Amino acid sequence: MITVQGLQAGYGKLFVLNDISHTFPKGEFTAILGPNGSGKSTLLKSIFGITSVFSGKITIDEKNLVGVPTEKISSYGIAYIPQRQNIFTGLTVLENLMLVTRKYPKAETQRLLAEINELFPILMKRSSQPAGQLSGGERQMVAIALGWLLKPQVMLLDEPSAGLSPRFAIEVFRVLQQLAHQGMTLIVVEQNARRVLDWCEKVCILREGQIVFTGTAEECRNDEHTVKNYLGVYSHKTI
Ligand code: ADP
Ligand code: MG
Repeated sequence: MITVQGLQAGYGKLFVLNDISHTFPKGEFTAILGPNGSGKSTLLKSIFGITSVFSGKITIDEKNLVGVPTEKISSYGIAYIPQRQNIFTGLTVLENLMLVTRKYPKAETQRLLAEINELFPILMKRSSQPAGQLSGGERQMVAIALGWLLKPQVMLLDEPSAGLSPRFAIEVFRVLQQLAHQGMTLIVVEQNARRVLDWCEKVCILREGQIVFTGTAEECRNDEHTVKNYLGVYSHKTI
């Protein structure tokens, strides 16, 4: 469980997040929504220790994360998948995966690759192809698989569906939903509310660095005020 309390954070002297308090429960898929520039990526980066935190608390299972180096945050079981540059395009798919699996014994590596084959069937078909030749959706799968191989308890993903066709976006969210069902905590920034609301359990909407709505995906969908004011025109039948 990740808890954020009274968080003020930003870059250098710039305040971006203003008094954010929120709990991300274990094993739940939470979408962070909100317009461009509202601080969504900054919130993920703050959890991963790569912003300036001015005040407030961030904890994982009561362990403090503020001021903790990123390597140590990783060792607490948190993986961060940034929006861009999240894979090595010059390496093949398998070489990308091996960057992580080489730290495991051979039998464990075999088991993990078999599991990847189940979770991300597309990837093993592409295993000998340079990752740079893959489609956007396939690259995103590689990025998620790389995060997953670290066996994190919590995965932070920044706009995993950006630039993807609806078909691939669904594929990405299907995998993420499955990971949450297996007990992983997912905190997923998404710009397109329509796309994610059918897949996530919880929603947290940011505007100008503040939380303006938190609730379940269903509460969000049924809250006309929130939909109209914070998400724009929304119809969950669109995808
Ligand atoms: P979102 O992900 O919701 O689009 P961000 O968290 O990326 O928003 O950005 C929130 C604000 O922080 C914006 O005003 C943006 O210009 C600023 N910002 C983002 N990254 C940096 C950075 N590395 N240095 C300085 N300001 C930044
Ligand atoms: Mg962003």
